[in-house]
Amino acid sequence: MANCHVVLFPFTAYGHLIPMADMAVLFASGGLQTTIITTPSNAHRFSKSIQKTTNFPHQIALQIIPSKAPDNSDQILSDESISGFRETISMLREPIEQFIQESRPNCLIADMFYPWTTEMAAKFDIPRIVFHGTGFFALCASESIRLYEPHKTVSSDSEPFIIPHLPHEIKLTRKQLPHLDAEIFKDFVEVLIEAVEADATSYGVIVNSFNELEPEYVCHYREVMKRKAWHIGPVSLCNKNTDDKSERGKKAAIDEDEFLRWLESKPPNSVVYLSFGTLVEVTASQLCEIAMGLEACDENFIWVIKNGQERWMPEGLEARMTANGKGLIITGWAPQMLILDHESVGGFVTHCGWNSVLEGISGGVAMVTWPVIAEQFYNAKLVTDILQIGVSIGDVEWSAGSSCDGVDRETVEKAVARVMDAIEGEEMRRRARVLKERAKIAVEEGGSSYLDLNAFIQDIKAFKSK
Ligand code: UDP
Repeated sequence: MANCHVVLFPFTAYGHLIPMADMAVLFASGGLQTTIITTPSNAHRFSKSIQKTTNFPHQIALQIIPSKAPDNSDQILSDESISGFRETISMLREPIEQFIQESRPNCLIADMFYPWTTEMAAKFDIPRIVFHGTGFFALCASESIRLYEPHKTVSSDSEPFIIPHLPHEIKLTRKQLPHLDAEIFKDFVEVLIEAVEADATSYGVIVNSFNELEPEYVCHYREVMKRKAWHIGPVSLCNKNTDDKSERGKKAAIDEDEFLRWLESKPPNSVVYLSFGTLVEVTASQLCEIAMGLEACDENFIWVIKNGQERWMPEGLEARMTANGKGLIITGWAPQMLILDHESVGGFVTHCGWNSVLEGISGGVAMVTWPVIAEQFYNAKLVTDILQIGVSIGDVEWSAGSSCDGVDRETVEKAVARVMDAIEGEEMRRRARVLKERAKIAVEEGGSSYLDLNAFIQDIKAFKSK
């Protein structure tokens, strides 16, 4: 497989960067020459992935391009960065073009947030592959809404409409769709429009999913939407040992041994894990309601909060909650893969970022879906309505400010109790465990994702010889 050079250009938000780093490891382990393009402030985020490929025929190479713009993973989609979004990413264009011109790779896999890479790849006669960071169901659902505008046929924001022409009858409301009308999002929306156009003319799409998870939507995307697509996931499964899992993305903010001892002291499926990912902001009042709800439902829990949020906790509550070993609060980065893979963990309260959903499925847990932004409402529908491995937190709205708010403690308590329940929760977990097994098989030699990865490599090589 030598002489095939794949260049990856990840977007720097964690939900896009982490799976692309795993993807680079997959390519390098297949013997491909693999280069990741990134900027100085993000370069260190790939060092773990590079280390993993030290003994491969080609170690992952890093191409660091200059950037004066604020592009750090921790702030790229923050309110301060979003208004200058288009300019921030455009500044990367010239150095990338220069690199592509000099290195002439076989293909360029670039995140959807870099629409101009389609035109650039065409200039050098190489295929541009799009990475959206989400699964097939969300891709199909959002395209259906874009094309048929079913939300315009209902008379209120809370009246449900059916997403047209999908294999299942899935209902949404206008409240659950993105609303980015504020001036601050003007730039960002322009990039999204350009991304749709660039998608249509790019060579194909690479998806972090597996066929057995959403077969109707893999088929719909390919046959009805006529897109060339390869599913190669769950890419997180390339992290096999404890170290790889615990340091994925960032170093965890807890002592790993102590943490594992705590987890191991708990019975199977007795711990619920709560996390809202990297972009969602949980308001102070919501934090309080979650704390009260957790305290009331009396389950073992691991709860991740962001740095600084600890000061919003009601006085004495954290001490009470963590006394007698019932709960753990992680302030900062949690080793999410390690947690979800552990047999003590049986439930996951999630904002439904696609990586979290896939990691939950790969861990065989039942989920409480609590979507907030982006395509999370579609992912939530996949979990509750199609896969039936989770319950919804209730009637929450898409939040332009990325803020998670408005759910009271009783609702939190009831939803957690349902996924941890020995009958209802266990039934969801049983289905999730079937998917977990299928995910494992999909990435093993001969599995559907393994075969699609190879099909992708063959296609790229054949493109070269055309
Ligand atoms: N993640 C983690 N620890 C944390 C927060 C996030 O390991 O404390 C990882 C998580 O496992 C996932 C990614 O960061 O791989 C977040 O991506 P996702 O699509 O779930 O959500 P986003 O942060 O993009 O909203």
